[in-house]
Amino acid sequence: MTTREQESDLRQQNDLLNRLLEVSLILNSNLTLESLLTYIMEATCEITHSEAASILLYDRNSDELRFVASNSPGTDQQTMAEIPVPMEGSIAGQIVRDNRPIIITDANDPRIYRGVDDNTGFTTRTLLGVPMRIKEEVVGVLESVNRRDGSWTVDDRDHLSILAAQAAVAIENARQATALKKAYNDLSQLDKLKNDFIAIASHELRTPLGVILGYASFLKEEAQGEASDHAAAVLNSALHLRNLIEDLTNLRYLQLGKADLVREDVTESALLQAALHDVQSLIAAKGHHLTVNVADDLAEVHVDRLKIGMALTNILNNAIKFTQNNGEITIATEQRPHEVVITVTDNGMGIPQEQLEKIFEEFYQVADHMTRRHNGMGIGLSIARGMVEAHNGRLWAESEGLGKGSTFCVALPLVQD
Ligand code: ADP
Repeated sequence: MTTREQESDLRQQNDLLNRLLEVSLILNSNLTLESLLTYIMEATCEITHSEAASILLYDRNSDELRFVASNSPGTDQQTMAEIPVPMEGSIAGQIVRDNRPIIITDANDPRIYRGVDDNTGFTTRTLLGVPMRIKEEVVGVLESVNRRDGSWTVDDRDHLSILAAQAAVAIENARQATALKKAYNDLSQLDKLKNDFIAIASHELRTPLGVILGYASFLKEEAQGEASDHAAAVLNSALHLRNLIEDLTNLRYLQLGKADLVREDVTESALLQAALHDVQSLIAAKGHHLTVNVADDLAEVHVDRLKIGMALTNILNNAIKFTQNNGEITIATEQRPHEVVITVTDNGMGIPQEQLEKIFEEFYQVADHMTRRHNGMGIGLSIARGMVEAHNGRLWAESEGLGKGSTFCVALPLVQD
């Protein structure tokens, strides 16, 4: 080779490397899957001097290969996509099985699967195919068909292998991005459905429930004997339903940021007394032992009595519910420089470390607890946290784990002078 020929050869190689680099950059950009595939087809034809290119991916379910892209002149993507290529009796199948490139130089080579040309009218004369791999696993084949001039070279094979490696990763990334987008859209849709349901349940059920409550209490007063007992049972269930609907309504107001606060100066012990009044009969019914350690010289807090009361009631209800009969429940308070902390501790079922935050999410319940079928919708703590945070306070849970009891802490900011 003369020096001039060597120079020109080097220049060509340099151009090609630059082109491969360019391709790699484009494949790593944010293209959609469709434009990515079109681009790979064009780059393959250009770099390996061929008339057409295609990508076939292996379909595990049918044990066949399917065209996901092709730019054979005179054929359209749809036609190609509908032609299955068998694993046995096709070049692509053999490339996948052997995980090795194949070069076909003879148009009559019996290994060529004729099913494709028969369907498209395109004639395959020569073919170069390389495996596409993702993390060592062969996922498909990149084929370059009919070299424009001369025969396929080792360089063609190497360049096509580089393209195939880049293409495999780019396709996988694009697919994952599409799947992620779909999952996100599905979730948003579900979230909307959930919010619509909450809105409907909290609003539309009120009126009929009001009628049931009215007639049930009327019947309970008027009816005699057994009929009165039946009316009382209806009334109790309707009252339970009203509590559930009220929880949903509160949740909705919190979601909408509409929890209007009617603040007043109030002592922690007044707040606790009101909450304890609500749950007294439940504590007695489960035989729990209650200890209350509330200092009487605590500074007052400036809060909405009803809303913080509701948060404390929800926390106490849980302590009662998630503690076996005859358990220990302790309420304590602690004054800190800028806040007062109320803690409710039980020696019940406890909460796994990784779920200590999750339990504050709407409708979340610890699976271990659910199997024991406790009443509740899993929104009491979301409401409680929403109410406390509306006061710029904090609510969090502590537990050593399942079976080791739990402590819920409510920190409320002190009234500033
Ligand atoms: P609900 O009580 O209706 O299930 P919450 O939002 O009040 O809903 O509580 C969410 C979940 O947190 C409960 O289902 C339970 O798994 C867990 N949890 C709450 N309080 C306690 C507690 N004191 N001890 C153990 N687990 C608790």
